[in-house]
This record gives sequence, C-alpha cells and structure tokens, in this order.
Amino acid sequence: MQKNILFLFFFFLSLSAKTQNTERPKLVVGIVIDQMRWDYLYRYNRYAQNGGFKRMMGHGYSCENTLISYAPTITACGHASIYSGSVPAINGIVGNTWIDRQTSRYVYCTDDKSVKTVGSTTNAGLMSPANLLTTTICDELKLATNFRSKVIGVALKDRGSIIPAGHSANAAYWYDGATGDWITSSYYMNNLPKWVNDFNAKKLVNKYYEQGWNTLYPINTYTQSSEDSKAYEAKGLGGNTFPYSFKQFVGKNFGAILTTPHGNSLTAEFAKAVVINESLGEDNITDFLTVSFSSTDYIGHSYGPNSIEEEDNFLRLDKELGELFDFLDSKVGKNQYLAFLSADHGALQAPEFLKEHKIPSARLDLNVFDTLNQVLKKQFGRDSIIIDMYNYQIVLNTPIIQAANINLDEIKKTIIQYMFYLPGVARIFDINLLAQIPLNSRIREMLVNGYYPKRCGDIQLILQSQWIEGYSKTGTTHGLWNPYDAHIPLLWYGWGIKPGSTAREISITDIAPTIAALLKIQTPSGAVGKPIPEIIP
Ligand code: ZN
Ligand code: ZN
Repeated sequence: MQKNILFLFFFFLSLSAKTQNTERPKLVVGIVIDQMRWDYLYRYNRYAQNGGFKRMMGHGYSCENTLISYAPTITACGHASIYSGSVPAINGIVGNTWIDRQTSRYVYCTDDKSVKTVGSTTNAGLMSPANLLTTTICDELKLATNFRSKVIGVALKDRGSIIPAGHSANAAYWYDGATGDWITSSYYMNNLPKWVNDFNAKKLVNKYYEQGWNTLYPINTYTQSSEDSKAYEAKGLGGNTFPYSFKQFVGKNFGAILTTPHGNSLTAEFAKAVVINESLGEDNITDFLTVSFSSTDYIGHSYGPNSIEEEDNFLRLDKELGELFDFLDSKVGKNQYLAFLSADHGALQAPEFLKEHKIPSARLDLNVFDTLNQVLKKQFGRDSIIIDMYNYQIVLNTPIIQAANINLDEIKKTIIQYMFYLPGVARIFDINLLAQIPLNSRIREMLVNGYYPKRCGDIQLILQSQWIEGYSKTGTTHGLWNPYDAHIPLLWYGWGIKPGSTAREISITDIAPTIAALLKIQTPSGAVGKPIPEIIP
C-alpha cells in the first residue's frame, strides 16, 4: 500500500516536472542582424528554402511593421532597446559614443576602465555593461531562475555582445581585430575557458582569408543590385570589385574580416561552439544565447544596400542562419528553443546611388563644425566652443562657456542661425525647446525617447530625408528617424510560436516584454513596451 502511495507520489512529481518542461523553452536564441532593413526580407529574393529567413517566415511569426521608437537609430541603442524593452532616455545608451556632460569626455557605450582584457594584451577588452542603466531580459531570466540559467553573448562587435547579455551574464565574447581572437573582460572572468583558447588557436580567420570572396551565384544573376565597382563603394578591402582576394591579409590584418561575409560565418561558428562547450539548452533550466551578426553593418556602410556585395552578403547570411537552425534542431531539439530575429537599425541607400536615379540625396560634411568653431571664436573670443556633433546633437563645451562667462543662449542662437540655411538641414533647435517647437509628433516622440540629458547634446539637428552626415565620401550610414533607418524585421520561431504575420505597428521595445510574457518572467526594469498579443499563446 505504502509502495503504491510512493509510486503515485513520484508519478505526480514526474508529471509536474514534465509540465515545468513545457512552460519554458530550453534555450532562447536572440539574433540581431546589424543594419538589416525590414525590406531585406523581400528584396533579396533568392533566399534558400532551408535557409534562415524563409524558415523563420514560413514556420514562424513575422511582425512586419516593427519600428524603432527613438532616435538616434544606432547600433548600441538598438541592442539596448531590443533587450531592455526600453529607450535611450531610460536605459542611458544614447549612442555608440557620447560626451559625458559632467566631464566633457567622450564615453564609449561599453567603456570600463576598471576591468582588464581577457584573451589578448590589447585594450579591446576594457569593456563591460556598466553604462547600461537598466536590466535586460537576460538579467530578468537570471533573476527568475535564481541565476541557474546560463546567459552568453556573442558578436564581433563588443557592444553587440555585451549590452544584450546584460549585467549578470556568465560571459560575453567579442572579436579583437588586432589579434584575430575572441576575447572578453575581467568583468566576466579572469581567464578564457580552455575551449575558447582552443577555438582561437585554430585561427579560422586565416582560413577564411585564403578563400577570398566571390559571389555565391554567377555575378550576372544579381539583378537586385547595381553593377559592381561603383565609385561610391569603399575600397577598404584593397578594391571594390569581385572576386576579392584576401591573401594579403593572412596572418596580418585580422580586422579586415569584419567587412566580409566570413565575419558572419566566424560568428556562427563561435556561437555553435558556445552551445556545445557551455552545454546551453541541455537541461530544463532555460538558457539564453544572444548573437549579433556585425558584418552586415560593416558591408552596408562600405557598399550600400544596392551593391552586389550587400546582396551576396545577405544570401550567404541566410545560408549561415539555416545551418545554425539545423545545428540547434539537432543539439537542443526542434521546437525546444525559442528564436527571434531583429535588427538594431536599417540604413539609407548610398546618396550617390539615389542621385543616379534622380532621388534627392546628399552628405552633410561634418567639417562644417570646424568652420563654425572659427565663427564662434570671432564672436565670443574662445576656441573649441563646440566639442563635437554626436548622434545628431551639437555638444557645447559648457565648462569653457561657464568659465568665460559667455551667454549660452547667444552661442546657441549663433549656431542655429549659421546652420539653418545649410543645404540638407531640415530642423535645428535648442533641445530644451523640443516640447514647444512645431514638429511632427512621431519625430518629436522619437527624439524625446532618445534624450538622456547627462549624455546628450545642446542643439538637435534633423536632416532632410535621404541626407546623411559624416566625413566619408563612400557607402552609407544610418541614425535618424526615417523609415529606412527605423523599420526593422522581427521574426519569431520555434518553441510556442505559431506561424503567421501581422501588419500592426509594433515597437522595438515590445520585444523584451514579449519574451518576458512567453517565459513568464519579470519584464526588464526600464521596459516601456508591451507584450505582442499575437505571439502570446
Ligand atoms: Zn548597427
Ligand atoms: Zn552602422
């Protein structure tokens, strides 16, 4: 009799354990494609059936109208927003770099001078998530499971790895372009695990360089792109013409891989190694792997969306993602993991390409600020009144202005008057007047969401549509409110996801609250988004 009761007890125990299994996936895989516009899901129309994009769109759920709800639309902000469910005004990540208003010093988003590089002797590892002011969904998973979940971030870019994984991650790994190795910082550990050292010892980068870069299909079939070798394509890889040979980089220029599709392959290989060696998704406590593919951004900046390089890059990335899902299916199990895919921002077409087709577009040369500082010196008698323009905001040198007892409003007025009639300037105004000036409400809201005063500038610049800023005369960039920068893909796939799509407007800040709802864990501390009802069962 007692035996029977014991049997029943264990029977129900095992039942409840089983129920627990089905409540959460074994692994969450967050995929951020750096600089991927939503329309890339459709414009490069030769994605493979067993590749990543068609698989996610056919078997998963697509939020077709997902928009970034703040400006600037920049890498660090995008990664922070996706994983925190918040906006720069709250999570504090207002750009890749900003000027700290107390010290007037440049701060890189993941700078941390209190830690050491682990895995190389360079400064590339003086990084941590210390500047991120809120939790990410990964932190919340850690808190929800009493830190039994494993969280690991992977990206070639430090910020694409560190920010998503959050404060309490087991590890974040990124690529040291000076050494060709995956590194981390003493924030996470004091020595690289043996498996990372073994991975680095293979120096895959040299093997990729030996392969060079030719198009996946015959080059004359790239009908979605302009002809090869346009004058406005960068020549950082020793030219801008297929086929590329990278033999000259072997054993030397380890950073060049960033601007090739091999950078994405290296990322996928390392991500698979993380899953294997850190046993992610092996037990019933949900783990989280964040992967950001950075090479899409480097290639986009260099060549622009209408280049054969970009088209080929996405066709190759699609294959890479398909192989990653095959790997996860066999290692973790089909539908045992939840994957989502989004982007940190999009990008404008290269201005010269648009002009070729009569669409108005141009570059605002940032050297204008040197001239403007000369104008200010003449009028106010001080050098370097403008520190810089960052994230489309002009930052004034407040300590100099205060010490010299110059009227701040007079300086602002002079700058605004000077800039107002410059070609390409749509709006320029004192950021303190943001609530008052006549401005389209969406743009205003995006700027408000991007504003964290201790890390932001004094004067806001909005460029005309199709204008970009920078010193470069080639390629393109991103950063403003426009749809080409702000409309991003959002795909859900795997555990608990039913196929479908919606055209309803969804915010980038809804991603983390949706994961929280799916996993039944707390929403990140600064989240302003809402769970997407179409995704929640
Ligand atoms: Zn980016
Ligand atoms: Zn970029």
